[in-house]
Amino acid sequence: MDQLRTRFAPSPTGYLHVGGLRSALYSYLYAKKNNGKFILRIEDTDQGRYVEGAVEIIYRTLRDTGILWDEGPDVGGDYGPYIQSERKNEYLYYAKKLVESGHAYYCFCTEERLANLPDVNGARRYDKHCLHLSREEAERRIAAGEKYVIRQNMPAEGSTTYRDVVYGDITIENSELEDQILIKSDGMPTYNFANVIDDHLMNINCVMRGIEYLSSTPKYNLLYDAFGWERPTYIHMPPIMKDAQHKLSKRNGDASYEDLIKKGYLKDAIINYIALLGWSPKDDSEKMSFEELKQKFDVAGINKSPSIFDPMKLAWLNSLYIKEMPPEDFAEYAAPWLDNCYLKNFNKQLVCKLIQSRIETFAEIEDKLRFLAEFDKIDAELYVNQKQKADAALAKEILPSVIQKLSNVTEWTNQSLFDALVGLSAELNCKKGAVLWVARIALTGLAVTPGGASEIAELLGKQETLRRLDLSNKMLKS
Ligand code: GLU
Repeated sequence: MDQLRTRFAPSPTGYLHVGGLRSALYSYLYAKKNNGKFILRIEDTDQGRYVEGAVEIIYRTLRDTGILWDEGPDVGGDYGPYIQSERKNEYLYYAKKLVESGHAYYCFCTEERLANLPDVNGARRYDKHCLHLSREEAERRIAAGEKYVIRQNMPAEGSTTYRDVVYGDITIENSELEDQILIKSDGMPTYNFANVIDDHLMNINCVMRGIEYLSSTPKYNLLYDAFGWERPTYIHMPPIMKDAQHKLSKRNGDASYEDLIKKGYLKDAIINYIALLGWSPKDDSEKMSFEELKQKFDVAGINKSPSIFDPMKLAWLNSLYIKEMPPEDFAEYAAPWLDNCYLKNFNKQLVCKLIQSRIETFAEIEDKLRFLAEFDKIDAELYVNQKQKADAALAKEILPSVIQKLSNVTEWTNQSLFDALVGLSAELNCKKGAVLWVARIALTGLAVTPGGASEIAELLGKQETLRRLDLSNKMLKS
């Protein structure tokens, strides 16, 4: 068999969203698993949707995630150029060939005429009006400078079938296919035409893309057939949904890779999660490194049914990756989040130690630790802990001793603070959990905190710890 060649063919219309990244990832993984080549092609023929800087976002995102292309605009290859706007002449050349063989024709219909075509079930279908113009007339009108497009001449009868690897046989009645435009009046090809020409000329033998192209593929196959070219294998991927009714889409402003990074997800977790949106490995594992994905990816594991983008599951996976980061890497990655808020004044090493195993995303750090910067009133009910036999009365009784004890601590570390509080519980003859509970509530005013009393006290420092305990003590008395 020929070497497998897959491609990712994004349009530079903005950020790279989850769906696009999944297409790139699957195409890459499938090629790599089979010692094939992965090609990057930029589809920029729709000048109206072109967004400045979007090509750089595509390069950056793919490079960052390790989805590296063997051939593409910047790295070159034997089949370039890999940017469609630089291939304009190819498309016109092949469109003219189709005109010669009768599979395409020039159309001069005005916008006004097209707008007044009969409406069939909400769509205006082109009526082959210009199909019957003679070659001479068409040439004369072109020479006279009239605007034209080139349309595909769809067969009026019969049907077109192909086999999609995921969805099985797909059949469309040819009579349902409109004579789509191949070359627009600005001389640029449509996506519908350019993707076929390029896939053929770039020797792409496996086309992997979103399900939205499943029903247009018969039109592409008719083009392959008209040229006498071999059709590629098709693998369409299931839709990614936001919820049961709505697709996750760029147009709804849904997650792009860069947004997710900004929200504090790690690239490995994002890639791992995206891989699972529509695919599962035979062994059903969920957490997989990029290397593992390369080994395990298999098109037989692509599902037909839609998958829902579940931020909670992404966050859970992210927390697993966060937990296994070496502390130095965690600190380095967390630095921007710590530096951009009140946390810049705290001991970063201690903050990181406290938080690494307790967050799902980096963006949570600021909120989770807000109590380090804000402290005012405490709800006395918070002292109640039935298991530890603690309540406000106990707090009132023991807080002065807690203050006394901690003010005598000289080595202000988690361990010595912990030892001091545990020692105090023995002296007071009460449960150690009760003392730790009361101290933690008195220090933070929160039912749930990342870390226990001694860890938090260490972070707050002696002065602030004693100030807070004193304030809480006074509040209990008032
Ligand atoms: N340029 C198309 C898109 O961004 C590519 C579709 C395809 O892979 O053929 O949706």
